[in-house]
Amino acid sequence: MREPLVPTLDRLPESVRRFELPTPFPVGPVNCYLLLDDPVTVVDPGMLYADSVATLTAELAKVGLDAADVGAVVVTHAHPDHYGTAGWLAERAGAPIYAGRAEVPKLLENRDRDQLYTLIRSFGIPEEMLGVFPAFYGAVREWLHDIDESRVIAVDDGDELRLGGRTLQALVTPGHAAGHLSLWEPVSSRLLSGDHLLPAITPNPLVELDGDSDLLRRRSLVDYLGSLDRFEALDPQVVLPGHGPAFTSVGALVTATRAHHERRAEEIHAHISRLVEPTAYELSRAVFPHIDGFEILLAISEVLGHVDLLVADGDVVIDLGSPTRYAPT
Ligand SMILES: [Zn+2]
Repeated sequence: MREPLVPTLDRLPESVRRFELPTPFPVGPVNCYLLLDDPVTVVDPGMLYADSVATLTAELAKVGLDAADVGAVVVTHAHPDHYGTAGWLAERAGAPIYAGRAEVPKLLENRDRDQLYTLIRSFGIPEEMLGVFPAFYGAVREWLHDIDESRVIAVDDGDELRLGGRTLQALVTPGHAAGHLSLWEPVSSRLLSGDHLLPAITPNPLVELDGDSDLLRRRSLVDYLGSLDRFEALDPQVVLPGHGPAFTSVGALVTATRAHHERRAEEIHAHISRLVEPTAYELSRAVFPHIDGFEILLAISEVLGHVDLLVADGDVVIDLGSPTRYAPT
């Protein structure tokens, strides 16, 4: 874990437990939260990887609970590290799975693979590297338990949810994922923030397929920064994030995050000016020369997020050729 950007908190609120579950991803372990009051709620039960199921079971046992005692499962967003075990747990518990509406098709694996590969090809990745994607998606599939559609409850922004003995307000904010779900408890000024707010890193604006967009993808970082205003306005006293320790001082985090993205956008603008109409792949190589394998998609996501900001500001234009290229205005 990198150095936190904001003050972290050692003590968790009463009747909330946090433990880490392993993932194979560069981000490291994922946080799973237990909200112990009725209905006992598990937020982000991790993925079917290493000893995560055993850890989850052991953590429930520490408070005298069994998987069958769980009354609700919450998935903040449909990234494998957060939800791979959700189907398993919901089945054992006979419990519903709450997720932001736009995440539901991803939880149910209703993705258009052809469109996804069309999008990946538009990045200009060399042909010989494209094999890493099917291999990676195949590996990820092994870490995901199937989810029974009838158990899934689609959550919309503003919904009130009765979970873990408290009334929580759903904040469904696009950014890191299209239907990212955070849970806000106004009476105690506590926020379960998933990956929208993290104490030590800026969440990757992961490229996400959007068949309705001319780019075939969402403008993840533009969405993310727009959503950030809402969290700044809430100014929660306690934030329980998807990775890393609990923290406070969201205003300072938001300021640092905006400054980081401005700097990075400037850096990427300089590369676009220097290179001749680069592709997303060429830009990602320039910014992150040491990245390899599937992580190239994280690098491309980071680059495209900032390219979208530069386009929105009128500093860069897009040539939607094959592959897509970028040029300064
Ligand atoms: Zn995450």
